[in-house]
Amino acid sequence: MNTLRIVNGRVIDPAQNLDQVTDLWIHGKHILAVGPQTQHQATRTIDAAGKIVCPGLIDMHVHLREPGREEDETIATGTAAALAGGVTSVACMPNTEPALDSQAAAEFVYLQAQRAGHANVFPVGAITKGRKGEELAEIGGLVEGGAVAFTDDGSPVASAEIMRRALEYCRMFDKAVLSHAEDLDLTRGGVMNEGFESARLGLRGMPAAAEEVMIHRDIELAALTGGRLHILHVSTAGGVELIRNGKRRGVSVTGEACPHHFTLTDQCLRTFDSNYKMAPPLRTDADVRAIIEGLRDGTLEVIATDHAPHAPEKKMRELDQAPNGIIGLETLLPICVLALIEPGHLTWPQLIEKLTRNPARVLGIDRGTLRPGALADVTVLDPTTEWTIDPARFRSKSRNCPYTGWKVRGRAWAVVVGGEVKGEPQAVQ
Ligand SMILES: [Zn+2]
Ligand SMILES: [Zn+2]
Repeated sequence: MNTLRIVNGRVIDPAQNLDQVTDLWIHGKHILAVGPQTQHQATRTIDAAGKIVCPGLIDMHVHLREPGREEDETIATGTAAALAGGVTSVACMPNTEPALDSQAAAEFVYLQAQRAGHANVFPVGAITKGRKGEELAEIGGLVEGGAVAFTDDGSPVASAEIMRRALEYCRMFDKAVLSHAEDLDLTRGGVMNEGFESARLGLRGMPAAAEEVMIHRDIELAALTGGRLHILHVSTAGGVELIRNGKRRGVSVTGEACPHHFTLTDQCLRTFDSNYKMAPPLRTDADVRAIIEGLRDGTLEVIATDHAPHAPEKKMRELDQAPNGIIGLETLLPICVLALIEPGHLTWPQLIEKLTRNPARVLGIDRGTLRPGALADVTVLDPTTEWTIDPARFRSKSRNCPYTGWKVRGRAWAVVVGGEVKGEPQAVQ
């Protein structure tokens, strides 16, 4: 078996409270040791001087589109995009066609991910059959097939009764329920946040209350059932506050922020560019500040992309016809550097914790740490290299990125998945 040594890097592993310039040793598929070793012989050495060496990043909110919409993305292209962005594990959402609502569907995802041989993929099962919101999916079978959590993402679970039973059922398997918090009656026909900008532009809005009433409902249901609740893509100040209060009451609730919701606002819609159209929508400056505060104080413990590929011909439609969402895997790191590290909102260990240990805990997967014996998923990132975002160079099949032309710093330099160096150390453009 090969022994890989990554030397001179700043090794950051929040799960061990580790942040020091040292060596990381990998033997076969597993982490062997951290620190200088004399008893081991390396078969390969990577010099990571000036780089950060951390557990492989985990993006727990990704749409891979396969099966059913392979023109937008496939498991192979989506996981290649993940590696390019420094992400070694993704959790994929079940709004495929057909929906990921059976044991066989979960097993198919593992098979395709293995065939592709890029990043690890952990399937998230649908809460309801066909994501129709009517009848619980076969939760037990999905767990058997390897589903790591449950959601109807893309859609909310409209029925409080079904959401209650999902929380109860998933609790028996110690799986989290991931809530896409949206009251569809309040958002119908909306293309952007409801407020000053939507009124000014004459576009139909979606009020913050549409998110907040559902977050409130789901926190109450988590309190009632003792189930584990995770709120996806929190976009509103009110949503952050509800989660903060829920935690104070001892409810088992975690919160997630997406980079676009802490970097962009509804003012972007003045361009009428559909790359600023998503659900939940871009909100206001005050919401952006509240999300950053939620990240700072630990209310929001996960950062995930909600990577939502759409082929160009779909996203180029008129604003009210274009589908929701943007891609995010290949811009995750530099956008976090720009919005969180450079202004001093988060330290590197704090950021890395939200991209490694915390999502691993929500999903209950054995990833997100560099502890000796752990599976060797490692991201080596260059925190300072400047580059210009150009979606034409992305590995993703889709190009719906709102950051084209942004000058940013920081990118993945090498990735290791299960002990194998996947992205070769690269000279950056
Ligand atoms: Zn969603
Ligand atoms: Zn999503």
